[in-house]
Amino acid sequence: EERTKDAEIKSAELLIAKEELEVKAKELQLSSKYKSEFLANMSHELRTPLNSILLLSEMLGEDTDENLTDEQKDFAKVIHTSGQDLLNLINDILDLSKVEVGKLEVVFDGVNIADFGGRLEHLFSHHAVRKGLGFMVDIEDNLPDLFYTDEQRLQQIVKNLLANAFKFTESGAVIASINRAEPNEIPAEPVSDTWLKFSVSDTGIGIAEDKQQLIFEAFQQVDGATMRKYGGTGLGLSISSEFARLLGGTVTVESEEGKGSTFTLLIPSLPKGVPTSGEAITPA
Ligand code: ADP
Repeated sequence: EERTKDAEIKSAELLIAKEELEVKAKELQLSSKYKSEFLANMSHELRTPLNSILLLSEMLGEDTDENLTDEQKDFAKVIHTSGQDLLNLINDILDLSKVEVGKLEVVFDGVNIADFGGRLEHLFSHHAVRKGLGFMVDIEDNLPDLFYTDEQRLQQIVKNLLANAFKFTESGAVIASINRAEPNEIPAEPVSDTWLKFSVSDTGIGIAEDKQQLIFEAFQQVDGATMRKYGGTGLGLSISSEFARLLGGTVTVESEEGKGSTFTLLIPSLPKGVPTSGEAITPA
């Protein structure tokens, strides 16, 4: 009889513990939602004054009336570049918090992939020249005329990957390629017949195997030395993989330390318009 009593007490205790855990989980969920809302509001409030700083420092830097000394103009340019860095950071934080509260809208429309690749090549060719690196965007010939995705988000992802490739490479080349995905690369239950693979390969510093998952988390970099040497916020890859998820795909990495890295974005062509099903792609 005593045993049954003990068992009853134990199971009552377990029930209480379970309820307490559920309350804690609810609290955590709420506080994470408040945090995201706070960040979204803050980011908006921060952008307004920053826009004035950017506009006015740019005008000072140009100094069309020739009233400023060279040193003063240089200061104005530093203000402008720092302001731009800050704006990028704020935009990144805003994007991430929007994704977290499900408020980042995606709109699928036809994208001409060859033109898209051409624009990327144009956009990054000066990075290559400046660092003395080889660079090309290799686009497969028989791609569909139009591929349906959110071009703005696609561009943000690929630009992030390319910017990283240039940042972490001192010699050699950066190669971007756009191909139809092979059947074995497409998920078992595909949402689409047409999948594209955007790869960005570099001959840079590479990433140790045990860090290759970590770098996709917000504010994570390989180590403190990376931050000091290369700057950055550690937000780019988490934004890229969140955006990839919104587009119905994934970003993955293959890398060898000291040799280089290849980041690959795999996405489906999805019906035109704003998606209505699937939690991740429901707009607010
Ligand atoms: P950030 O570049 O602002 O630090 P990211 O989220 O884009 O943030 O990248 C996180 C980290 O992943 C980088 O700090 C770097 O350590 C590593 N990383 C990303 N891309 C590369 C690359 N192409 N080569 C080597 N390391 C990389």
